[in-house]
Amino acid sequence: MIIDLRSDTVTFPDDGMLRAMMQAKVGDDVFGEDPTVNELQHMGAGYFGFEDALFVPSGTMANQIAIKLHTEPGDEILCEENSHIYHYETGGASFNSGVQIKPIRGQDGLLSAELLEPFVLPNYDWYPRTRLVCLENTANRAGGTFYAQDQIRGITDFCERKKLRLHIDGARIWNALAETSENPKHYGTLCHTMSVCLSKGLGCPVGSLLLGSADDIKKARRIRKVLGGGMRQAGYLAAAGIYAIRHNLNKIKEDHRRAKELYEFLKKKVEIKEIKIPRTNIIIFKLADPARCEKFMMELRQKGILVSAMAQDTLRMVTHLNFSDHHLDYLKKMI
Ligand SMILES: *Cc1c(COP(=O)(O)O)cnc(C)c1O
Repeated sequence: MIIDLRSDTVTFPDDGMLRAMMQAKVGDDVFGEDPTVNELQHMGAGYFGFEDALFVPSGTMANQIAIKLHTEPGDEILCEENSHIYHYETGGASFNSGVQIKPIRGQDGLLSAELLEPFVLPNYDWYPRTRLVCLENTANRAGGTFYAQDQIRGITDFCERKKLRLHIDGARIWNALAETSENPKHYGTLCHTMSVCLSKGLGCPVGSLLLGSADDIKKARRIRKVLGGGMRQAGYLAAAGIYAIRHNLNKIKEDHRRAKELYEFLKKKVEIKEIKIPRTNIIIFKLADPARCEKFMMELRQKGILVSAMAQDTLRMVTHLNFSDHHLDYLKKMI
């Protein structure tokens, strides 16, 4: 048995999802003629209260399109120092948009108007123009911490006062909403654009959505094309997204419960210390002897358990749709 907890991206579509994909009605989406892609975009926009949405191959592309959309070369964007946009997008902000990132230390991966305020630069010739704030919800490297909508509202108002644009990297927004039980539609009033992943908690093989105003999404389509992200009969993939929103959303709470059970188990092990309570589906911990990390990972691997390293001395486990109670029991036995 292989138990893969390296990420929530490792899931496989189940029979129902595969059937939905095979039966999808498709067309050429570069011409805007794929009915299933159009349906998913319409559904996603409506769900989160935005005017429109764009189906893209990855969360990275959704974020990169948003940065391009909101900035000019030479601008500066404000991100939390552990954010995906800063760490894991291959330097894309500079590569694609010619902007620089100001990484800001948040609290548990989260920013606030107070934390952002000192970094908004005045309008002098020698400063970059501060243009865009990016929030991450949930915050991956902080262990899946999340914003309540009220906390974001404070940043929304701040951005409006400072004439900044606001993008939310909501790769795991579903996980945040599963905990807060807030109305997802409010997100449309909280930020200019938001990216959401279908290929993480929801278990799709491929795909993300970028959400925004009709005008912004029209521009985003052009940027997607220039990045090489114009897909043709993409309805086969979009069908998985529609299926996932209908059938898998309500399973995310189970991922969180298993993460907490795993945490309760791990925290009692003498070898493990500095383990954070998982707020959603991500468990981050260090070993009592940090030098043993690599060996520990190897020992787990030999037992069929895969985890990922966040840093030389820090390990991560992520629960997901293909991690069951049965797997949890087995894992406890093995550890
Ligand atoms: C996974 C992830 C993304 C995008 O990932 P892709 O692999 O490009 O789909 C963006 N932001 C965060 C916080 C993520 O965890």
